[in-house]
Amino acid sequence: MSGTTLPAEQSSRSPSEAATGVRLGVLKGDGIGPEIMAATVAVVEAACAHAGAGPLEWVPLPVGWEAIDRGHRALPRETVSALEQCDGWLLGPVDFVTYPAEDRAERNPSGELRHVFDLYANVRPARTFRGVSSVVGEGDLVIVRENTEGFYADRNMRIGSGDLRVTDDLALAVGVFSRAASERVMHAACRIALGRRKHVTIVHKANVLVNSMGLFLEAARSVGESYDVECDDQHADAMAAHLVRRFADFDVLVCENFIGDVFSDLAGELTGSLGLAPSLNVGDERAMAQAAHGSAPDIAGKNIANPIGEILSAKMLLDWLGERRRESSFGDAAAAIERAVVSTLDQSIATPDLGGSVSTSEFASEVVRRL
Ligand code: NAD
Repeated sequence: MSGTTLPAEQSSRSPSEAATGVRLGVLKGDGIGPEIMAATVAVVEAACAHAGAGPLEWVPLPVGWEAIDRGHRALPRETVSALEQCDGWLLGPVDFVTYPAEDRAERNPSGELRHVFDLYANVRPARTFRGVSSVVGEGDLVIVRENTEGFYADRNMRIGSGDLRVTDDLALAVGVFSRAASERVMHAACRIALGRRKHVTIVHKANVLVNSMGLFLEAARSVGESYDVECDDQHADAMAAHLVRRFADFDVLVCENFIGDVFSDLAGELTGSLGLAPSLNVGDERAMAQAAHGSAPDIAGKNIANPIGEILSAKMLLDWLGERRRESSFGDAAAAIERAVVSTLDQSIATPDLGGSVSTSEFASEVVRRL
């Protein structure tokens, strides 16, 4: 998973401040969230201890059903305020569709956090692993998803939602595409590509959505010209076929919000399992690690969920912290986590979604043992 992290803006804090500890929020989320989060915290703790990174201060904060059950909203204001004091955080999946009506009337917690902290790029790597059978042979790509607008109507209005039910029999959804948001996500994609194979593919549907996705394409193309990267584009429908047939040919894909969401699940599953797919939501000041998958209610509470997506998301957060704080020990911890995950899978130790038989917690222990 080389070069998957958007290079962080370096913090303006002084080196002496940079040497102090790191506060990391932990929002377990719903369904399999508590299981994969316990596994991830154990791995991050051990990796940072070995690498001399930290000290880490974990700040557990309620979100989702944990908050609702305590009489709060799904994303309590106190949780958001506490995150303002954190350097970054881990967010588990949220089972939004089961929330009470008053919570469902608002943005879902992960969309709200992306919005409040302006986490405009969702960086979602997808790579194959030895020891894991994949549909696509070998491959290693990164999807950079625009995270703040597009067709996700709950995120694109100042007030209210752009998802409108006009009559019983008629609905409209408002898509929002701005030059500024399209340009900044393309800058993020190009900066990631510079650390990889220097190739960005813009995925769009500008042949049909001529004005909205047309603007996304136009803005992204013009930014691409200012970087030393090869820049091309694909229609989203054709891209679905290309991904299955020639996954290994792609390096960095940049997409608007909805297309990026769908394609990153597809890419994760093509490499072996959606449970493998990590993501980092990044803005100029903050980063939030969050596996690409949902709360997986069908397997929740059984200790069989694959924790790799969340573990590798946390690995990306450590890389980001290391760059921002100019402390190489965080990068060392991140690299050690990736090596340990690769080596565990290489020995065919895996959770059931990958055809293995170890539990979530046993998988985490195997990773920790290899750090
Ligand atoms: P899902 O991703 O939860 O599950 C899809 C399939 O993938 C299921 O069969 C599930 O068992 C499997 N899967 C997912 N993660 C796995 C893992 N780590 N290990 C093994 N198998 C895994 O998608 P869904 O069923 O559409 O959504 C369930 C809930 O999650 C919904 O409420 C949805 O809104 C929510 N959701 C949340 C997020 C998020 O918080 N980031 C993302 C997507 C969906």
